[in-house]
Amino acid sequence: MIVDCHLHLNNYEENQVPTLDKCLARLEHEMRRNRIDQALVLTSYTVTPGRPSTRTVVEAIRDKPYLTVIAGLDYTKFQPDELVEIADYVQAGKVRGLKLYPGYQPFYPLDPKWTPAFEFAGLHKIPVMIHTGDTYSPKGKLKYAHPLNVDEVAVEFPDVNFVICHMGNPWIRDCMEVVYKNANVYTDMSGLTLGEFEDRFEVFLRKQVSEMLSYGVEPDALLYGTDWPISSMDSYLDFMKELAIPQKERRMIMAENAIELYGLDRGNSLIGNGKRR
Ligand SMILES: [Zn+2]
Repeated sequence: MIVDCHLHLNNYEENQVPTLDKCLARLEHEMRRNRIDQALVLTSYTVTPGRPSTRTVVEAIRDKPYLTVIAGLDYTKFQPDELVEIADYVQAGKVRGLKLYPGYQPFYPLDPKWTPAFEFAGLHKIPVMIHTGDTYSPKGKLKYAHPLNVDEVAVEFPDVNFVICHMGNPWIRDCMEVVYKNANVYTDMSGLTLGEFEDRFEVFLRKQVSEMLSYGVEPDALLYGTDWPISSMDSYLDFMKELAIPQKERRMIMAENAIELYGLDRGNSLIGNGKRR
């Protein structure tokens, strides 16, 4: 079974925006082709023609139980009131996490503005995913996106689970330590490349992931995710195929950890039952 815990329905070429239906059809086509059972769709911190709101995405995937939304929050406009609507979606099983975008927006994760969001996550037992590392946009400010910043929120909010997105890339070692030290911190391996992996970089990254596990990061803290459509699903599966890890750990990383952390129902598969791998 495969759960992709980090992908988007955004369109990054904003001058020619396809409809959300078209983006969804493309996602399902890619999932079927790559035999991905379930995926978490992360909404953005901003709403534009190419970046649909959490409400729009929740409505669009209402009859697609193999898709679950992670609600992106906007630092500049955030009001605790908006958590009321998200609570309904959480109750309905359509939203299973929050996402913050430090670096893309100028704030540190421990900013007091987010206290209601962290308390909400603790109450509803949903994780908070935090962007870390390189920003896709040159307008981002990297100091806010360093994975070490996640250590602070993890300590201050011990009842909340946090996900360091993109393994903090390129600060992978710092990410390792934060995940190793904090039982409530996980990391996803999404977005490590644009499109396909370049051979040399793929070798380098495989070494990084192996090192992370040898360093003492428990395999239950590592999550499979791609950041599609930024990264290619095919390329990510190839990356995992060549990774020398025991079967049991592979199953954990590819699906089991995400099912547990996000509280997903393993019966919801786009691919169908009895064909798990
Ligand atoms: Zn992403």
